[in-house]
Amino acid sequence: MGENVSEDLVEKLLAREEERFEAAHPRSREVHEQAADDLLSGVPMNWMTRWPGRFPVYVHEANGARVTDVDGNTYVDLCLGDTGAMCGHSPAATVAAINAQLERGVTTMLPSEDAGAVGELMADRFGLRHWQFSVSATDANRFLIRLCRQVTGRTKILVHNHCYHGSVDETVVKIGDEGEAVPRYGSIGPPVDPMVTTRVVEINDLEALERELAHEDVACILIEPALTNIGIVLPDPGYHEELRRLATKYGSLLIIDETHTLSCGPGGYTGAYGLQPDAMSMGKPIAGGIPTGAYGLSDDLAARVLDVTVWDAADVGGVGGTLAGNALQLAAVRATLGEVLTPEAYDRMIALAERYETGVVDSIERHGLDWSAVRLGCRVEYMFSPEPPHNGAEAHDVIGGPLDELMHLYMLNEGILFTPFHMMALICPATTAEDVDRHTEAFDRIAAELTGA
Ligand code: PMP
Repeated sequence: MGENVSEDLVEKLLAREEERFEAAHPRSREVHEQAADDLLSGVPMNWMTRWPGRFPVYVHEANGARVTDVDGNTYVDLCLGDTGAMCGHSPAATVAAINAQLERGVTTMLPSEDAGAVGELMADRFGLRHWQFSVSATDANRFLIRLCRQVTGRTKILVHNHCYHGSVDETVVKIGDEGEAVPRYGSIGPPVDPMVTTRVVEINDLEALERELAHEDVACILIEPALTNIGIVLPDPGYHEELRRLATKYGSLLIIDETHTLSCGPGGYTGAYGLQPDAMSMGKPIAGGIPTGAYGLSDDLAARVLDVTVWDAADVGGVGGTLAGNALQLAAVRATLGEVLTPEAYDRMIALAERYETGVVDSIERHGLDWSAVRLGCRVEYMFSPEPPHNGAEAHDVIGGPLDELMHLYMLNEGILFTPFHMMALICPATTAEDVDRHTEAFDRIAAELTGA
């Protein structure tokens, strides 16, 4: 937990913060108890139990960078729906487009007039020219894996250790003792032994990558360009160039999952660093919070996909979804990319994330904590290790535990929401410098308490 922080002190502060939490959330407790009668563990989705405190905070409303709970507490939201609300909650332009479309039908199984404009927006922004829409990023990844298997005739995919790409069977894995893929901790009902479907390597381990690809059974490599779901782990300089070269050498397709790295700029990490994937997947913020995923294909991959598509069975072939690509999604994507997640908005968001990072690093140094911070565009993470981790296993060793729990709970009690799984903060177009400074000041106070300053 960082060598200069005492475990006893962390436990003591945690107990204090639990009491503060209980005192400030009587109505949330009531709603929780009521919901527990009919919802599995009192929440509409199981991971909502992962928030700090003995029960979750129940939300009354969310707007811009603010969330207000049912007890009337208002928070600066740095979680932003774990990126689903990276545009801010209910951005005006998206809401206007959604309202207009709601009056004109949500889902018809026919394309709407926004289709052409949305395709152009996606292609101009992300560089690939052949797009499809799904209901979630999970689905975008699932469909791409199927397409890659179909066109290559290969069975396996390759992922990074401690990756997360949604509820995609092949990816719920980690590296086993012999370097093989085994179910990751908590994997629910794996359908087959993941060794059958998946190869797994650490990010930044080019030797292992080449060894695994050399089997020539990998249909596609599915990766985030930097890990973001086990804390942030950045790629080494040159990693992506080599990855691209090896993918081509061994005939594997390269999919970049930009769902979280959309934080890097208007074209995601791929746009910011000039990557050259065969396909890209994303979801979460691109429709301003309306459930939407998207995947794009290069010219070459699109031609190969068209070649193998069985058109008279396109609705039942394992790639699809009745609600995918509906009129509401398209209207929301058009407004969100066109008017909310603009290049100017990114400039402001990234500048504020730099302010956040500087504030945190400065406080870490002043208090002599052996912690570090990493930034990916408008996303910043602090980790309880002196150097940022270099791969998934290292990151896994430093996140979680009582210190993590304390920081989440303390910040929540101070009116600041963090994504529940790690200390990751996201800036949206509505976040202000005052919001950032409010966090920096809270960070400084808890840092002082932890170091006895
Ligand atoms: N890809 C990445 C990189 C993600 O982080 C996530 C979710 N955290 C997903 C895909 C899946 O997104 P969803 O749960 O919205 O399908």
